Amino acid sequence: MRNLVYNTLKLFHPIFNSLFKNRLRVLAYHDIVDEANFETQIIWLKSQYNIIDISTLKDHLFYNKKLPVHPLLITLDDGDITVFKKGFPVLKKYKIGACLFIITDLINSSKDFWWNTIRKNEKKKGLSEKDILKLINESKALSNKDRIQLLEKYPATSQQQLTIDEVKELEKDRVFIGNHSHTHPMFDKLEKKDLINELEQAKNFFEKNDVGDYRVFAYPNGNLSEYTEALLQEKGIEMAFLFDHKVNEKKINPFRISRIAVDSDTPLTEFKTKVSGLHPLILKVKKQF
Ligand SMILES: [Zn+2]
Repeated sequence: MRNLVYNTLKLFHPIFNSLFKNRLRVLAYHDIVDEANFETQIIWLKSQYNIIDISTLKDHLFYNKKLPVHPLLITLDDGDITVFKKGFPVLKKYKIGACLFIITDLINSSKDFWWNTIRKNEKKKGLSEKDILKLINESKALSNKDRIQLLEKYPATSQQQLTIDEVKELEKDRVFIGNHSHTHPMFDKLEKKDLINELEQAKNFFEKNDVGDYRVFAYPNGNLSEYTEALLQEKGIEMAFLFDHKVNEKKINPFRISRIAVDSDTPLTEFKTKVSGLHPLILKVKKQF
């Protein structure tokens, strides 16, 4: 059924592409697990879209400069080490710019992503991947205090993270370094003082290390509220990226830039459908079966 849906929708790609010709697409990757497939995706993207960088988007948002036709921006969240090891060589090879949103507390550390601490511990106990995912999703709905309490029940796990030298190496070669908070909490679940603390600690990191730009921000997990948005503006953030699987509207709100989630191991047919902007429609169709 999955293949049938994608193969049928494939027929609509050209229509969607021309309808959304001037609309910005922003892709959101996480880790890069499949370097060869990622290369296939990049070759295809390069043949179909004008891949832009953050400064082109800034010029458009704040100085009214036109974007090229079929504009597309590549972003990667969390700063997984595979981005450096497997993604970066491909981006370099094709001279493609991207934006990496880092979690500042993890750089130069061996701390794990908090959701992986849950995953690894629960896996050891024999919980299925499906139930682990359910548990992680439930933990994202908790108040920040309760989420931290839940995490404290688990023995710490470790993970190789990017070093500051690696971050600088990425930056030197077309990878813009953006802000993905200090510890990746759900911003809509934070109390005001914790929210301020997250932003200030991230800002300190960017300034102390003279890297990237704190003001270009991606919401952890895409979670936002009107209140967090106002505070972000107060704290000097200029652009905020969501995680809502949509192609951007013609007039882009700099604080609500839509992104389409993609994975490096997604086969090309499915990938094309996701990038085209048809995916919300697929989700609707899937619910019918
Ligand atoms: Zn994230």
